[in-house]
Amino acid sequence: MTVLLAEQSQWIQSSIDAMRVDDPGHWPSRVCKERFNALPLAGNSIYLWALRPDGSLVCFDHEAFGWHSEVETDPVVIYAVMRQGAQKYPELRTLIPEIPSDARRCDSCDGTGIAERDGRTVSCLGCNGLGWYKEGAW
Ligand SMILES: [Zn+2]
Repeated sequence: MTVLLAEQSQWIQSSIDAMRVDDPGHWPSRVCKERFNALPLAGNSIYLWALRPDGSLVCFDHEAFGWHSEVETDPVVIYAVMRQGAQKYPELRTLIPEIPSDARRCDSCDGTGIAERDGRTVSCLGCNGLGWYKEGAW
């Protein structure tokens, strides 16, 4: 788990507080805000990752009933999610961990995690939408 400075925690908390969640299309953000008190950073067709003010990265299955959540522990996933989060929120750039030695950038999507299929933007299947994968995982 990333250890945060007080001002980083405060920044995350105020960003969560500022999240607009009243629109029905915002339901994943609403779950993050109201259920987990966490800032959504990245997601794919199954999981959503969100950062709490204490620095823990919550992962939950947004397709499953009950929002079962876990704290993410895979260093490659944490690295990929924090990178995506820092693109959305440059304030998080200093929280990106060092590249794990077994992390590999996905060539199919150039590390973006995004692919196009039939004219639609979808999660890249080569890396599960994260842009990076663990060497030997596939
Ligand atoms: Zn990919």
